[in-house]
Amino acid sequence: MSKAFNFSAAVLKWFDQHGRKDLPWQHNITPYRVWVSEIMLQQTQVATVIPYFERFMAQLPTVQDLAKASEDEVLHLWTGLGYYSRARNLHKTAQVVCHDLAGKFPSEVEALCELPGIGRSTAGAISAIAFQQVAAILDGNVKRVLARCYAIAGWPGKGDVLKALWAQAEQLKPNKRIADYTQAMMDLGATLCSRSKPQCQRCPLQQHCQAYANDSQTDYPGKKPKKNLPVKATCLLILENEQGELLLEKRPSSGIWGGLWIFPQLESPLDIDQHLEQQQLHSLGTQQQWPSYRHSFSHYHLDITPVHIKVRDPGQQVAERQQLWYNRAQPANIGLAAPIKKLLAKLN
Ligand code: SF4
Repeated sequence: MSKAFNFSAAVLKWFDQHGRKDLPWQHNITPYRVWVSEIMLQQTQVATVIPYFERFMAQLPTVQDLAKASEDEVLHLWTGLGYYSRARNLHKTAQVVCHDLAGKFPSEVEALCELPGIGRSTAGAISAIAFQQVAAILDGNVKRVLARCYAIAGWPGKGDVLKALWAQAEQLKPNKRIADYTQAMMDLGATLCSRSKPQCQRCPLQQHCQAYANDSQTDYPGKKPKKNLPVKATCLLILENEQGELLLEKRPSSGIWGGLWIFPQLESPLDIDQHLEQQQLHSLGTQQQWPSYRHSFSHYHLDITPVHIKVRDPGQQVAERQQLWYNRAQPANIGLAAPIKKLLAKLN
């Protein structure tokens, strides 16, 4: 790349003409709004996030409101966004900010990184956008732009590759207009420098981009080495009472689907009769086994077999389990795991 090229000036000039300036979190900027939007935007596209962000802010407009909300309420507002540990950490951080920091977010990257669920890039974005501190970011979009522009090879999950990308990000950040620059870099990666079809003809970095010069854009960033994920199996029991309500159970706070509500889970359909007996539920008809389908997590695949059974509810659930009969016409304010949402949609 030519030395005379002013990277940040080119990016800012492009931002002034083409950047997004009307996103909901770009209005009425506060550390709380920036933080919530940044957490929602992790691994999630802007168009998906917008309605979630607006609902979240309407319901919980301040960090104090979030700190006081129940975990079920927070997870309910997050249902469908995925990666629920983000929501649980959001809730924890709101409580730390309110109880330990007098309701004020820190402005420095190091202090922000101490809070649950805030990594270095998210801390950089909050610090730059909400506090105009000169801080670098390196989200997935920015990694792609920098890896291509500077031909930084290798998978960014590897320590040395990540270090090289951070060094570049730190070196390029401007002293002025840091909030606009931060937004511009995210926009550039999301809109022009896309994963499979980058629009290099419209990119302000084109003349200086090494991947463009070598026609090797899709080689960067390097791919994660493939590994065969283990496969597990589970049976989800869709128990429907005579009122058409469905039995849900709350998962423990940590682990897969932590804090979310799911249908009772069994290792195999062979365990169903024993389970119904333990729960004192009486089957009212035949068991309908639905086709199995696969739900993939980052570290394993889960083959799910749903079984739908109409039951008579004796009106007492097992006390040590957190259970509720879910009324689809008047849904409770609780968080639902993605496969449960999918199955509920099939029942409607
Ligand atoms: S020129 Fe193309 S590959 Fe290079 S940064 Fe711009 S959009 Fe990405």
